[in-house]
Amino acid sequence: MTVELIKSTRSFAQLQIVWDAIIIGAGAAGAFAAVHLAGGKKILLLDKSQFPRAKVCGCCLNASAYSALERAGLGEILEESDALPLTTLELHHGSTESLINLPAGGHALSRNFLDAFLIRKAVSKGADFVCGLTAKVLPQPDSDLVTIEVSASDFCATIETNLVIVADGLNGHSLDRIERFAVHVEKDARFGCGAIVGGAESFENGRVYMCCHPAGYVGLVALEDGRYDIAAALDKEFSKECGGPAKAAEAIFAHCQVSLPSGFSEAVWQGTEALTRKRDHVAGHRIFVIGDACGYPEPFTGEGIAWALRSAEALAPLAQAAMDQWRQEHVAVWQRRHYNLIGARHKRSKLIAYSLRNGVVFKAALTVLTKFPLLSKNLVAKLTGAQAVNRIKSSEEIHC
Ligand SMILES: Cc1cc2nc3c(=O)[nH]c(=O)nc-3n(C[C@H](O)[C@H](O)[C@H](O)COP(=O)(O)OP(=O)(O)OC[C@H]3O[C@@H](n4cnc5c(N)ncnc54)[C@H](O)[C@@H]3O)c2cc1C
Repeated sequence: MTVELIKSTRSFAQLQIVWDAIIIGAGAAGAFAAVHLAGGKKILLLDKSQFPRAKVCGCCLNASAYSALERAGLGEILEESDALPLTTLELHHGSTESLINLPAGGHALSRNFLDAFLIRKAVSKGADFVCGLTAKVLPQPDSDLVTIEVSASDFCATIETNLVIVADGLNGHSLDRIERFAVHVEKDARFGCGAIVGGAESFENGRVYMCCHPAGYVGLVALEDGRYDIAAALDKEFSKECGGPAKAAEAIFAHCQVSLPSGFSEAVWQGTEALTRKRDHVAGHRIFVIGDACGYPEPFTGEGIAWALRSAEALAPLAQAAMDQWRQEHVAVWQRRHYNLIGARHKRSKLIAYSLRNGVVFKAALTVLTKFPLLSKNLVAKLTGAQAVNRIKSSEEIHC
């Protein structure tokens, strides 16, 4: 289904399709939700971007993310994409450097590939997909159904549906008109930025280079297509002082005495809104929220894709029940499930990111990790989801 088809019929109603659910945002969370829900029900997956598209992300798919894909029968993704297995983390802070072995199971995979792959799988299972359309949920207190407005530069229409799943990510605004879903952004929150640069010689495949500075950090990893992904979380003031995100990232590489990848100066940078944010409500009448749209801590531990996939997976049975028959208690069920599944992980990641803002704490942590490899192995396994995967495999308990 294309935007042109929708435009030519002038109205969604004329398409004579009644979607059981509409998913806003076809990133990791939304596309994976569509994979789970397509089949028996009519699902519409919408995104404002064109695909494949790059997005600000460290592109490290951890073991927990991969095991969610495997459980959905999508384990072939690694072979199809030639994703590079991650073996080591090279952590820098000024002249201090530490090399930490990563547990097996993590891979570097571009978001161009991952997101387009998930969309393809959802469509092959029967979901309708439209890109280039921006959606907004409209407040309709007197209606039992949910109304969303969809628009492109020269087009605007409304659609009613039984269920909306909001997966519009960190930069999403599709719920802005509904007071219940207000977002709280932390005052001194950093922002994210990133770029993909042409290949260079000096960085090893399978190694994550993390350069840290009191005003932010930059990660670099080789992708399956030979290019490098760069992703950073930066203090706004620092970025301004340096002359923008690219200059700030360059300053952090220099602070850590890591050479710049070739093509760095020509790279096109993308940015995000403030990173550390939270929504009190992740469910409302016929609306569920998943992925980064629920809130986000800083990305130091690189778990966001796993959280996005696992929230989509955990929502699936509830969304099926809600499409069959909406019940008001579904709101409380998702609110609780989401908190149990993701809430504690967000808190832990936020705590780590904040303690690392203190250079002394960071250097001490590096020293301890280097001197006690067993401790570092266990900690990294926990952070990369390797332990969680083992637990899930042994208990088969994935829905909180
Ligand atoms: C600097 C940085 C580094 C990171 N590194 C890692 C890492 O190494 N590993 C990891 O696991 N995670 C990492 N993350 C986190 C990860 O990128 C996110 O957690 C993940 O992409 C969340 O997926 P999502 O589907 O919720 O949102 P997204 O992937 O952002 O998808 C949201 C989609 O919604 C669409 N959209 C938005 N608004 C609308 C609208 N109104 N209508 C229609 N479509 C809309 C957007 O176009 C987008 O395609 C990092 C994040 C940052 C910022």
